[in-house]
Amino acid sequence: MPVQFDPGPAVTELVRRTEHLIQDVVLPIELAHQGSAHDASEDVRRQLQDAAREAKVFAPHVDTEFGGLGLDMRDRAPVFEAAGYSLFGPLALNCAAPDEGNMHLLEKIATSQQKERFLRPLAAGDVRSCFAMTEPVPGAGSDPSALATTAQRTSAGWLLNGRKWFITGAHNAGFAIVMARTSGEPGSRGGATMFLVDAGAPGFQHVRNIDTLDESMFGGHSELALDNIEVGHDAILGELDRGFEYAQVRLGPARTTHCMRWLGTARRAADLAAERAATRQAFGGRLGDLGMVQQLLADNEIDIEASRTLILKTCWDLDTGAPAGHITSITKTFVAEAVNRVVDRALQICGALGVSGDAALSRLYREVRPFRIYDGPSETHRWSIGRRIVRRALTRLEARP
Ligand SMILES: Cc1cc2nc3c(=O)[nH]c(=O)nc-3n(C[C@H](O)[C@H](O)[C@H](O)COP(=O)(O)OP(=O)(O)OC[C@H]3O[C@@H](n4cnc5c(N)ncnc54)[C@H](O)[C@@H]3O)c2cc1C
Repeated sequence: MPVQFDPGPAVTELVRRTEHLIQDVVLPIELAHQGSAHDASEDVRRQLQDAAREAKVFAPHVDTEFGGLGLDMRDRAPVFEAAGYSLFGPLALNCAAPDEGNMHLLEKIATSQQKERFLRPLAAGDVRSCFAMTEPVPGAGSDPSALATTAQRTSAGWLLNGRKWFITGAHNAGFAIVMARTSGEPGSRGGATMFLVDAGAPGFQHVRNIDTLDESMFGGHSELALDNIEVGHDAILGELDRGFEYAQVRLGPARTTHCMRWLGTARRAADLAAERAATRQAFGGRLGDLGMVQQLLADNEIDIEASRTLILKTCWDLDTGAPAGHITSITKTFVAEAVNRVVDRALQICGALGVSGDAALSRLYREVRPFRIYDGPSETHRWSIGRRIVRRALTRLEARP
C-alpha cells in the first residue's frame, strides 16, 4: 500500500487557523505566565479553550459524535505540532496529556453509559482527568507488572487501596482512570483492571503536588492516596483483568501524540536560535556565518525533519491497523531524544540569554527533559526493541533448512 502523507486542504486550513491562534492568543498568555501552569487558574484554561472553540480548532482528535473534529492520527500530526509551538497550545485545543490519551481510551473501550458520563464532559472541556498507573517504590514504574494498588471484590462492587505518584493533571481533576490489581501478585504479568473513579469519591486523597523540573502541564504531577474507595461494577473500564492490554491501546497513540506536540516545541526552539544566529553580531559578522553555528542549526533541522517523517510513518501504521508496538517505541525514543537535542543546541546558540528567564528557551529546556522518562524511558524502549530484534533473528534462523 502506498504511504500517503499529504494532509489535504481541510487539514492545511486547520493548521493555519491553529498557528494564528497560537501566535495571537496562546503565546502571549503563556509568556505572561512564563510557561508555568502553576499559577494559571481555571479561568486561564477556559479563556484558552474559548479562543480555540471560536477559531474552530477545539478537540481535533475527538470523534464528531462527542463534539470533536474527528481527525485520524495522520491528520492530527500537523495540527498537534502547530499547537505544541506553545506550551499552553495543547491545553487550548483540549488535546493535552493526559486528557487526550484518556479520551482516546474511552472512545475505544468505554460503554455508551461511561462515554456519556466521562467522555462527553471531558471532550467538551467541562472537566479534566488523570491516568493513575505509576506508584512509589516498590510499585509500578517502567515495569507495570509491579502494580501494587489493589481492588478487592465486595458485595456491592470493589474496594480500591494503594498509592500513586507522578499523576499528571490529578489536582482538581474530575475523575481518574486508576489501574489496580484484581488478581495475581506484584510481579504477575496479568491481573490488572482499569477503574473509572470520581475524584470526589470518599477516600480519593490528593496528598501533594510534586515539585518537578517541568511546570507547564495543567494540574501538575500529584501523589495520590487511594484509601478504601468504594466503586460499583460499572466503574470497570473494559473487562476485568485486561488492564495491561488496554494500557497498550492508550499508550501507542498517546506516545505518538506526545511526539507531535513536543516536535512543535522543538521547532519553536530552533526558530528562536535561528533568529538569534541571524542577528547577533560577533567576530566581524553574524553568529549564523560561523560554520560551527551553521552545523548546530543544520543538525536541528535534520532532527526536526527526521522526527516529523517518523511520526507520520507511525501514524500511518496506527491508522491502517498495522502492528505498531515496535514503531511506536522507535518513534518515542528517537523523537524524545531529538527534541532534547534540538532545544539543547538552540540554548547553546543563544548563549547566556538561552539560560535566562528573558528567553523562553530555559523554560522549554526544562519542559522537554522529562519526556525521555514518561511514556517509557528510552532505555526501556531500547530494551523492548532489542528483544524483538533477537526474537526475529531466532525465528529467521529456525526457519532456515
Ligand atoms: C513529568 C512526568 C509525568 C508523568 N505522568 C504520569 C501520569 O500521568 N500517570 C502515570 O501513571 N505515570 C506518570 N509518570 C510516571 C512515568 O510513567 C514513570 O516515571 C515511568 O514509567 C518510569 O518509571 P519510574 O519513574 O518508576 O522509573 P524506574 O522504573 O525506577 O526506572 C528508572 C530508570 O531505570 C532505567 N530502566 C528502566 N527499565 C529499564 C530496562 N528495561 N532496561 C534498562 N534500563 C531500564 C531507565 O533509565 C529508567 O529511567 C510521569 C512521570 C513524569 C516524570
